[in-house]
Amino acid sequence: MNAEKGLLIVLSGPSGVGKGTVCAALRKVCPNLVYSVSATTRPPRPGEQEGVNYFFKTREEFERMIERGELLEWAEYVGNYYGTPRRFVEEMLEAGKDVLLEIEVQGAMQVKRRYPEGVFIFLVPPSMEELRRRILGRGTEGDAAITERLEAARAELAMMAEYDYVVVNDTVEHACERIRAIVTAEHCRRDRL
Ligand code: 5GP
Repeated sequence: MNAEKGLLIVLSGPSGVGKGTVCAALRKVCPNLVYSVSATTRPPRPGEQEGVNYFFKTREEFERMIERGELLEWAEYVGNYYGTPRRFVEEMLEAGKDVLLEIEVQGAMQVKRRYPEGVFIFLVPPSMEELRRRILGRGTEGDAAITERLEAARAELAMMAEYDYVVVNDTVEHACERIRAIVTAEHCRRDRL
């Protein structure tokens, strides 16, 4: 990646770790960071908006996006498709903007193959017990979905070693500050090249 292009920053972490909250906080303190809105077949949660939280798609629509090569990466997670629209990311990087992808591990590994120069950050909870508490506390999912999400979380935690950085989400402020420091350091490193 040359110096004028933006950084591609990938943030993963188990369901319930607080990625969404950390992303929202990051966007406030990093004005150069643009957030890629994903496509999904998951139904919207209360308060979620089309084009803001996700582009909500039917399975057929999503499969057409895959066929047309419109996705940079995609994965099936707990019975639904999730994917990153390719064009937006490419255009923003070209324009010198840093792009943040908040995606699960299978998708992140696809991105790593295409953009090995990306910055891969894994957000972890302070403990498994705390993670369980956060998933239960969200209260938007049924029992079966909660069990599935906890299992997925365990599998995701096992992939931590594939990432460049691990950040503990003890408080949103701390996690956000650490990620901001990583982005600043990565810029210093790239700009030197
Ligand atoms: P949720 O249903 O809780 O919004 O998201 C479930 C999981 O899907 C989270 O781990 C989230 O990071 C991930 N996710 C969201 N968007 C994408 C995407 O575009 N691609 C992939 N691979 N995962 C995504």
